[in-house]
Amino acid sequence: QAKKHGQDHISYYNKALDTERKKVFNLQHELVSALRNDKLELYYQPIVNMKDDSLRAAEALIRWQHPEQGLIMPEDFIPLAIESGIIIDVGWWVLDTVCRQIRIWKTEGKWKVNYVSININAKQLLKNNFAQTFLAKLAEYEVKSSDIKIEITETSLIDNFEMTQDVILELQKNGIKCAIDDFGTGYSSLSYLKKLSFSVLKIDREFMSGLVTDEENIALMRTMISIGKQLNYNVVIEGIEDAFQKEIIKKIDDTVSYQGYIVSPPLPEPEFRERFLN
Ligand code: C2E
Ligand code: MG
Ligand code: MG
Ligand code: MG
Repeated sequence: QAKKHGQDHISYYNKALDTERKKVFNLQHELVSALRNDKLELYYQPIVNMKDDSLRAAEALIRWQHPEQGLIMPEDFIPLAIESGIIIDVGWWVLDTVCRQIRIWKTEGKWKVNYVSININAKQLLKNNFAQTFLAKLAEYEVKSSDIKIEITETSLIDNFEMTQDVILELQKNGIKCAIDDFGTGYSSLSYLKKLSFSVLKIDREFMSGLVTDEENIALMRTMISIGKQLNYNVVIEGIEDAFQKEIIKKIDDTVSYQGYIVSPPLPEPEFRERFLN
């Protein structure tokens, strides 16, 4: 009896896993065709200077217009894309799209940012002569290397540190600056901060969320900003949502930049243009 019950339980469990796997598998397939059929879209979020809220840059953030499910957010498909390796094609699509957008902004007199940031998974850096392919792409669109920055999450850095280091150095030698994204949430040792040639440090918004009430978060924030400054990084704070949070950061250091809902969420290009590039 007990055994039978156990087996039922296991087969129920397997079925649930199966359905889950199937869902993931389907989504991965759909993503490939979304990529081919132009169903992916980039939104843009402003990055502004703390001192006067003037526009500094924009981060390009991907969205998926799904025929049945509507707008799918990156957190619901980027992990699947990483798992299946599709993330490499996604990354090249993002670069193409951003280059094209930069061309358009420039020819229409709308180039009002210093640079556009794109998110690249560290896996991609190790494939197909990344730096040279990247540079060729910029040349093709006549985009300057200082027009684009590459954001790489701290978490994704862990594998193959040495090879990643070479690619980032090669990019930097060619004028392309890289940012560490979601700083403070990975488990990597701080020594990579001096080994890897990063230029921008983006502090994860996890630390902003509890900021107003939590003295420890404020202490961590102060420390991370200070580390960034002392190592000559440009520091960007992510996720400032209200005036209280902004005041706290401004008091700590008003030379940082920030992005957050208090200025604007990521917007489709026409709205971003309307609000920030006029
Ligand atoms: P990220 O690169 O750290 O991007 C910042 C995320 O924080 C964005 O979420 C943005 O909408 C959100 N955010 C900004 N300000 C605020 C705020 O004040 N409050 C709150 N609650 N959230 C804020 P999004 O667009 O959903 O992207 C999530 C993550 O997905 C990104 O985090 C990035 O890791 C990944 N991602 C997005 N686009 C791409 C892409 O094109 N390629 C790759 N590889 N990853 C991407
Ligand atoms: Mg980012
Ligand atoms: Mg981030
Ligand atoms: Mg993030």
